[in-house]
Amino acid sequence: MPYKDPEHRRAYKHRWYIAHQTLTKERARQWRLNHLDHVKATKQTYYLNNRERIANYKRRWQERHHERLLQYYRNHYQVHKSDYLTYMKHRRRIVRSRGPFTKYKRRYEWLSMLEYFDYRCLRCQKSGTYDTLVVDHIRPISRGGTNTLNNIQPLCDPCNRWKGRRIISYR
Ligand SMILES: [Zn+2]
Repeated sequence: MPYKDPEHRRAYKHRWYIAHQTLTKERARQWRLNHLDHVKATKQTYYLNNRERIANYKRRWQERHHERLLQYYRNHYQVHKSDYLTYMKHRRRIVRSRGPFTKYKRRYEWLSMLEYFDYRCLRCQKSGTYDTLVVDHIRPISRGGTNTLNNIQPLCDPCNRWKGRRIISYR
């Protein structure tokens, strides 16, 4: 140690740590860039072997940050509502890879939409809950509709069944 004074020594150690950390991080970054395929394969294997654990972790994280997430998606939805189609075009690829929209898988986006529409069925205006309101596809999937937020609206079960394969937007 070049310093006798504990204050100095602490500061030196800290500087060394920061410098060292930057170097290590940079080396790791370079290595990853040179081994992209390997990194991808490793990630995939890890994901496949730990699917349940990752899902549990994600669920717990979401529970812990419930309020913050709700707020985030609430804002997100309001900010993008007017140009949702354009916005979703950019995101379509990502969204598609995430699989179908279900209220369980996309809980927070769905909750934010329910909040936005005041937990009402958009056709009959009856009040509902997360459990009673269903994900209605404005243009049904069977008629080429997409599984994205811009094609989705909350309806009660009877209205959803009444609508059937019709293409009607109540938003
Ligand atoms: Zn209804």
